[in-house]
Amino acid sequence: MKMTSRDFNSLISFGKPNAIPELSPPNTLRIMMLAPHPDDFDAIGVTMKFFLHNGNPIVVGVARTGSGVEDAYRPGLTLAGKADLRDQEQRRSLQFFGLPGGDFTSLCFTNDEGDQLTDPPENLTLVEEFVSENAPDIVFLPHGNDTNSAHKAMYSQLKQVSQRSEYPFAMFLIRDPKTINMRTDLYMPFDQQDADWKAQLLRFHDTQHQRNLRTRNYGFDDRVLNVNREIARDLSLTHEYAEAYEVEYFDKQEISRRTG
Ligand SMILES: [Zn+2]
Repeated sequence: MKMTSRDFNSLISFGKPNAIPELSPPNTLRIMMLAPHPDDFDAIGVTMKFFLHNGNPIVVGVARTGSGVEDAYRPGLTLAGKADLRDQEQRRSLQFFGLPGGDFTSLCFTNDEGDQLTDPPENLTLVEEFVSENAPDIVFLPHGNDTNSAHKAMYSQLKQVSQRSEYPFAMFLIRDPKTINMRTDLYMPFDQQDADWKAQLLRFHDTQHQRNLRTRNYGFDDRVLNVNREIARDLSLTHEYAEAYEVEYFDKQEISRRTG
């Protein structure tokens, strides 16, 4: 069952953010995670777990990159070796998460000199192929209003794909530590037990965990959970933590009705 523009509209209630579980999303909705980095999936682990237990099919595409791995982590490692290491961390985290099939698609984009995703035409083609092969209803990805260039590039590509797509799909844009500003349409509240589980999930990205410990004096788990705590505070929730999303979608029929 494909979502209609009315379904998407019911997800967006300007000015009043909704808790995802309260929307009782149908388990037929096809979920996609499109990650500019290995670890972006884990940053919304509790929402993904909700959809997993809800019975929704989940497909994960992760940009292959060796960025963010310090030379001191494993001296002598090439950039390709660093990318292999990050792939391995993602694979282990998804096994722990319990993704059926336990695997993700490693997307080999053209990257910049820092091995971060950029947006030449061949990258757009790769995003378009991955989306059309998997026909998602909802695509999760980091918000485009972000200081990270790979987050911005991925958003810009998916937005173009959504505008050209034959059928509508919604983009659920993730608030993460680098998001500058966004509207919150949906959130996933959670408690300490889920926070502990999520911390464990995040720590599978040991290259990132060690870098955070060294440069920030706190781990990658705390870096993400601090944002989740901030979201819950911003929304005045009774839960201590929440993951947050801005919903964006483009519906050709809706637009042609409005303009034609
Ligand atoms: Zn990222």
